[in-house]
Amino acid sequence: MHFVLKPLPYAFDALEPYIDAKTMEIHHGKHHAGYVNNLNAALAKEPAYASWNLEKLLTNLDKLPESIRTAVRNNGGGHFNHELFWTLLKVNKGKGPDGKLKADLVATFGSVEAFKDEFATAAKTRFGSGWAFLIVTNDKKLKVLSTPNQDTPLHEGRPILALDVWEHAYYLKYQNRRPEYVDAFFNVVNWDEVARLYEKALK
Ligand code: MN
Repeated sequence: MHFVLKPLPYAFDALEPYIDAKTMEIHHGKHHAGYVNNLNAALAKEPAYASWNLEKLLTNLDKLPESIRTAVRNNGGGHFNHELFWTLLKVNKGKGPDGKLKADLVATFGSVEAFKDEFATAAKTRFGSGWAFLIVTNDKKLKVLSTPNQDTPLHEGRPILALDVWEHAYYLKYQNRRPEYVDAFFNVVNWDEVARLYEKALK
């Protein structure tokens, strides 16, 4: 099999009480695993693309045979987004962004709070299933956006913060209260990892 589900880099209960252990177990072990399995199954039908890495597949969807294009878009996007998402989560005990990332968030959005408001609004107002992202655009600007389904923001730039707003990400604990889940998310942003991705994206 080409793509592999990596273990979560922490225990299922590491994000309690903001994201519960049962949600993390099912989200990683069933939902993310499903995307990986379905992506591998699609690529098995078209072995010519088996050597392409994930980003090459996702940024060249128009070059793929129609028979697997939608499956790669949905399941490859799902694999990419979730792999990123897991690394961005850590109980931060109120620690926010600092250094260059903080300075550039303030320069771009007016304040860290204004950035959080814009990001939270993108997450709360995405209709149906999708994601909110903070990206570094191809011309090296910070930008908030949301995508539907499992679409990635790779056509616009590099994601450095991501929030899954599919119901499977929050329904067990928050039911229909997506705004509460979005607000709780800021307690589990691993800002050190966001800063590392920011530095990397600027190079
Ligand atoms: Mn998900």
